[in-house]
Order: sequence, then C-alpha cells, then structure tokens
Amino acid sequence: MSEAALLSESQSDLPRVPDWKTVLAEAIRDPQELCRELELPISLAEHARRAGNGFSLLLPRTVLPRIRKGDPRDPVLRQFLPVWEETQAVEGFTTDPLQEQAALAAPGILAKYHGRILIVTHPACPVHCRYCFRRHFPYAQALDGGQTPQKETVSGAQPRLIAPVVDYLSAHPEVTEVIFSGGEPLIIDDVEWTAWLEALEGIPHLRRVRVHTRMPIVIPQRVTAEFLAAFKRCSLTKIVVLHANHPREIDDAVGAAIQRLRATGAILLVQSVLLAGVNDSAEVLAELYEKLSDLGVMPYYLHQLDRVAGTHHFEVPEERGRRIVVELRQRLPGYLVPRYVREVPGATSKVPIF
Ligand SMILES: *Cc1c(COP(=O)(O)O)cnc(C)c1O
Ligand code: SF4
Repeated sequence: MSEAALLSESQSDLPRVPDWKTVLAEAIRDPQELCRELELPISLAEHARRAGNGFSLLLPRTVLPRIRKGDPRDPVLRQFLPVWEETQAVEGFTTDPLQEQAALAAPGILAKYHGRILIVTHPACPVHCRYCFRRHFPYAQALDGGQTPQKETVSGAQPRLIAPVVDYLSAHPEVTEVIFSGGEPLIIDDVEWTAWLEALEGIPHLRRVRVHTRMPIVIPQRVTAEFLAAFKRCSLTKIVVLHANHPREIDDAVGAAIQRLRATGAILLVQSVLLAGVNDSAEVLAELYEKLSDLGVMPYYLHQLDRVAGTHHFEVPEERGRRIVVELRQRLPGYLVPRYVREVPGATSKVPIF
C-alpha cells in the first residue's frame, strides 16, 4: 500500500472495527441494556439479574446483530440471556456432574483420556453460555465481582503454566496430543500463544495440538494476523474445534475468520450442544452443518447436555435426540452427521448415545 493510501486510511471517517480486547471490555453485562438494545420487555431484565447471580450476563456486542429484535425466544439470545428457570432446583441437576476435579493430574492439566491431555489455560470466557457446565466453577464469582473484570481476564493469562506442562509431557511419552480448553483458550493473548506453540513443538513425541474454542464464533476479530502466523508456523498437526449451536451464529465476519483459520492448514471441526429451544430440530442442525461445511468445517460431537444445576430447561430427552439424529442421517451425507455423545463421569472416552 502506498504512503498516501496508508495516510488516507488512517484519517478515514469510516467506523473502525474494534480489536478483540476492546470488544471483550465493552461486552454487555447489564440486562437492562441488553433489553433496550434488543427491544425486549424490560421485565426480562429483572429475571436476568436474579438468575445471573454468580454467573451473570456477559455478551459481546458482536453477537447482537445475529439476534432478532423483540423476540425473547430467539435461539441465539436464548443461549446467553439468564432466565428465571435457572433458579429452579431440579432433581438430578448438580453443580459438578462431571466430577472433573478427580482428573486433575497437575495444576492446569486434566489427564482423563489416554494419549491426550487437556490444558485448562484460563478460566475466563468471552461470553457466558447459560447451558455451560463451567457455570459453577468458583472463578465465575471472582469475575463477576470485580470492577474491571475484562482487564483481569485478558492480562491474567498463565504463561507460568508452560514450564510445568512441558515437564509433564517430557515425563509422559505416551501423550501425543495436547488439547487446549478453558474457559476459553483464545482469551490468552498472541504473545503467550506463540510461546505455547513454540514450547510444544520442542516435544518430540507430540503429534497434535488441538484448540477447543468458541471465540472465533463470538468475537471473530480474535483471529488476528499474529495468531494466524504463529499457528501456521507450528509444524504439529493442528485441529481447531469450534463451538457453535445455531446457523445464525455464523455471520459474514465469522465466516471470514474461519477461512483465515483454514488457511493455516488446521483441520476445522465443530461441536455443538443439543439445546431445547435453540437447535433441537434436524432442520436447524442440518442448516448449521451445511453452512459450516461450505467453510470447510466438519461436524465432530453433538453433546447431550450435562445435567448441571440451572440448565434443566435446555435438556432434550435422549429419545428425541436420537430421532433428530436419525433425521439428520436422512438429510445429510454421512460425513456431515455429528457423533451424538454424552459425558459419563469416570469414563475413558465420550460415550456414544447411538
Ligand atoms: C472431551 C474431552 C477430551 C477430548 O476427547 P476426544 O474424544 O478426544 O475429543 C479430553 N479431555 C477431557 C477432559 C474431555 O472432556
Ligand atoms: S464459552 Fe465455552 S466454556 Fe465459556 S461459557 Fe460458553 S460454553 Fe462455557
């Protein structure tokens, strides 16, 4: 680009696309504001305030255009707006159904499955999904309490985890894959990501690095040039498992971010949670998987909801889930049908429902 062009660009009056840290910092946390923006009855705000106690509303503005205004039942909104049902106690729904504490091998490392370790890089999330099993982790409290939580979120990354993870891997030659999970692994910044990828590349028996993330869906700006460059440089097999539940979550900006990710040579997969009122129909799921396949993303898991307290209104009975998957098989080629699974505490893999 010429100097003149650069100059005119920097002086342009066009609205600038904010960077991802700004988007995070300016996310909506006030239910009243959300109701105003989306032309929703203000009575919903009071429910949201009460239901969000401990795991409050958190929604980046990048998601707002994907929500229909004036529709409290909108399937994208439903994933993020706290509702009164969350405060109901329902038998069978508990605060730690997965009993994950038991699998903690070292700080930040979950070694539950053979040959793979899961790294819990950072507890924070860019968005609070109401159905999430992480809603009862104690960190939610800490995040909601501070005055400048976003700042802490972004700067509070954990490069100090790198050395212990490298030590662990050196002592465990059977581990061939490192999985980054969260919270949300892409909430750590590019400097730290570069350090992680370089450290992992130095481990001879490691073959794959996998990132489970909702970030490119929620804040596509997070897929920065720096991240892409570091990711592309990494010679391990790279797998990105995106988390998306409804086709309307994939707008043009998200599509562009996915295409940039794909250009790094990464294998792209999508996992979803089967959610009542969001994607509990073959029609919606088929549209989701077709839309993503256009972007080079293949389905991975369709998860049965974990029975976490406050999420019962999202549960789809397995019998219905099975009927939905049967219909998906009729509508789609085999490679676009996800594996319908649930997590069973103590099991050595995800358990196929059928
Ligand atoms: C799901 C999960 C994995 C990855 O399992 P895959 O079947 O390889 O996708 C790893 N660790 C934990 C703790 C998990 O819950
Ligand atoms: S981004 Fe992922 S970990 Fe965070 S609240 Fe949503 S589903 Fe849970």
